[in-house]
Amino acid sequence: MTAYDTDNIFAKILRKEIPSFTVYEDDETYCFMDIMPRSDGHCLVIPKTPCRNILDATPEQLAACMATVSRVAKAAKTAFDADGSTLQQFSEAAGGQEVFHLHFHIHPRHEGQPLRPAGVMGDMELINAHAQAIADAIG
Ligand code: AMP
Repeated sequence: MTAYDTDNIFAKILRKEIPSFTVYEDDETYCFMDIMPRSDGHCLVIPKTPCRNILDATPEQLAACMATVSRVAKAAKTAFDADGSTLQQFSEAAGGQEVFHLHFHIHPRHEGQPLRPAGVMGDMELINAHAQAIADAIG
C-alpha cells in the first residue's frame, strides 16, 4: 500500500497550515466541516495521528474515531432536527477516496432528501453557522 503523504490536505488542517471549521476535538480525533457539503451539517471525523484509510488504520485509531463519530452524529441529528444519519468512509482511489488521511463523513439526513452532488463549494458563512450549531449541540 502507498505510504502516508504528510502533505495531504487534512494533515495540513491538523497542523493548522490551512483553515477549517472546527466542530469538536479531543486528544485523538478532530471533527470539522466539509467545505463541499453534500448535506447541511456534512462534517468529517479524522484521527490526529497519520493513516491513509481503513486499510492501514489501527484498532485504536478506529475506536477513537468511532467514539467521536457517535458523539457528533447524535449532536448533528439534534442540531438539524434530522430524521437519521449517514456515515461514509472511502478507502483508496478505487474506493472513491480523494484525500488520503482516514476520514469519516457524517450527514444528518431528512426523510426523502437525497445527498447533493459532491465537489460543489459551499457558502462559508453558512458552513460556519452549521459548525457552531453542531458544536452547541455537543455541549
Ligand atoms: P473522500 O476522500 O472522497 O472521502 O472526500 C474528501 C472530502 O474532503 C470531500 O467531501 C471534500 O469536499 C472534502 N474536502 C476537501 N478539501 C477540504 C478542505 N480543505 N476542508 C474541508 N473539507 C475538504
